[in-house]
Amino acid sequence: MSVQIHPAVDHGIKPALAGFSGGKLVCACVDHPVEVTITSQTAHNHVCGCSKCWKPDGSLFAQIAVVSRDAVSVTANADKLEIIDSSMTIQRHACKGCGVHMIGRIENTAHAFFGLDFVHTERSPETGWAAPGFAAFVSSIIESGAAPDQMETVRGRLVELDLPPYDCLSPALMDVIATHAAKSR
Ligand SMILES: [Zn+2]
Ligand SMILES: [Zn+2]
Repeated sequence: MSVQIHPAVDHGIKPALAGFSGGKLVCACVDHPVEVTITSQTAHNHVCGCSKCWKPDGSLFAQIAVVSRDAVSVTANADKLEIIDSSMTIQRHACKGCGVHMIGRIENTAHAFFGLDFVHTERSPETGWAAPGFAAFVSSIIESGAAPDQMETVRGRLVELDLPPYDCLSPALMDVIATHAAKSR
């Protein structure tokens, strides 16, 4: 049996739909689910192995994308959201009922990614969202309990899925961070 990366990629990655312009994300609560409305397509969707991103049960990776924060609003049961750790660069707004992270937001205006929210589009009933294109922070899955001797299999599977594995962010995003750093000198 091959290794389970994430439910959104394990059985084939769904392609983005041309002209797709957003949808709703819902948490996992049966009663009064938190609903987040996004009025735009997302970008830089990827699977992430870091220990901070929310992962579905049994999944080695999270799936996470960015979208302009102007396009994101909480449209139902906002009172159930809480910030997990406000000292983190990315403040993750999670549902107190089910634990699903609904929005990751950067409040530091000097940060390279300020203005972008992080979202898990697998929480949406709509299809057509941007497809994941790479795997970030792959080595970090070891911190969450993956066996080090499993890593070759995991990286092999990611390559097979067309998700190039990186142990930081993708080259495109690392370039954005470095460009921002150079400009702010
Ligand atoms: Zn919930
Ligand atoms: Zn992450």
